[in-house]
Amino acid sequence: MKVAKFGGTSLANAKQIKKVCEIVRADKKRRLIVVSAPGKRYKDDQKVTDLLIRYADAFLASGEAEAEKQAVFQRYREIVEELGLSRDFGAQIEADLDEVLTNRAGLSPERFVDAVKAAGEDNSAKVVAAYLRDLGEVAQYVNPREAGLLVSDEAGNAHVLPEAYERLHALREREGIVVFPGFFGFSPAGELVTFSRGGSDITGSILAAAVKAEVYENFTDVDSVYVVNPNLVDKPKEIKEITYREMRELSYSGFSVFHEEALIPAYQANIPVCIKNTNNPSAPGTMIVSERMATARKVSGIACDSGFCSIYVSKFLMHKEIGFGRKLLQILEEEGLSYEHTPSGIDNISVILRERDLTPEKEARITERISSELQVDDLAVQHGLALVMIVGEGMRQSVGTSARATSALASARINLEMINQGSSEVSMMFGVTAADADRAVVALYEEFFGEGAKSRDEQTDQVQSASK
Ligand code: ASP
Repeated sequence: MKVAKFGGTSLANAKQIKKVCEIVRADKKRRLIVVSAPGKRYKDDQKVTDLLIRYADAFLASGEAEAEKQAVFQRYREIVEELGLSRDFGAQIEADLDEVLTNRAGLSPERFVDAVKAAGEDNSAKVVAAYLRDLGEVAQYVNPREAGLLVSDEAGNAHVLPEAYERLHALREREGIVVFPGFFGFSPAGELVTFSRGGSDITGSILAAAVKAEVYENFTDVDSVYVVNPNLVDKPKEIKEITYREMRELSYSGFSVFHEEALIPAYQANIPVCIKNTNNPSAPGTMIVSERMATARKVSGIACDSGFCSIYVSKFLMHKEIGFGRKLLQILEEEGLSYEHTPSGIDNISVILRERDLTPEKEARITERISSELQVDDLAVQHGLALVMIVGEGMRQSVGTSARATSALASARINLEMINQGSSEVSMMFGVTAADADRAVVALYEEFFGEGAKSRDEQTDQVQSASK
């Protein structure tokens, strides 16, 4: 049995939905289908989820948002009509949407927003199931509540609860094709809660783990995962096979093809994930697996994410002061901040945070507390940082990768604000100013994937054997 998840662009209009159904019908093992809400039909289009959020915000602010509501209705109307589904079915979709969008009975604003957001995928799933039936398939829409997709009660940021897996396992026994809406589940008290944005990937992964699928196919709109952001490098190399760990590091730092949290269920259940293209399903795609054969290539991918800042503190004899690190991190914890990394020296440490989390008020309070409570010698906050990562299982067994990376960056005259080699040794991270980030990525791509990269990789190996 295969679980196949289709992203927003695969559901964007009737033409795309027809492709989805063709893909599903082409393989009898594709019996559990997870769908996103209709996404963008063209570059500057709006995703239905964004329309729904805009609707919910306007409705909460003024009690009425007719134009926003009609924009959502219109998307489904077009899809239903172009798929040739019955008028009654179209009317049913609209009535269901209307009920969710206008009935706030007893819902807090966060719950209302979650319920409205979830309507996007919920109706996508109903449409796909109806269309598959029109094509003569046995297909059913299944609601996450009925199926037992239990999640924590954190609005907009749910996490699956362990007991969900056993309940969802029973989906194996359903007849025909099950079409399941992505992006949301229900708390044990029965409240609808959504995952974080892009969370249909998470639903697919949970279902794949629960039914012990032979593979979790994740259909999107690119042929594969590329070794670098294709907007920065022309026709970059494709990744054929990558480990969960490598993918995890790349999604953390900017690879948006697959939601970073979505890897966890598949990884824990050891289900391979295959990223494929709805618009070109015969392309092999990218396989994400637990182990892969070692290749000469040391680096599997290069990622970059901006929007970081660092809080640097130094204090003479810090390394001997028991509890210094805990106290520092506790100040951040008490401000509700999660930290990303803590590169450190003997008497200094930097804490890297996401800039969006550090409001000016929080920054003022934190710096004041660090100075007064920890009696540090130096304290500096640096904004506008980007983190560039090189990721690869091959780095662990070879010597010289960091030297190659830093010298490529030096040749491009990029100043390094920070270097952090992850303890896992699967990744290496360079902090640069946001203005230098793109150039840094290109310089690293040239070094590890550009002309002559293969022979440089081979030389790296020789260094390793020479050092034995
Ligand atoms: N539709 C949701 C979003 O845009 C979830 C998803 O597509 O995965 O975030």
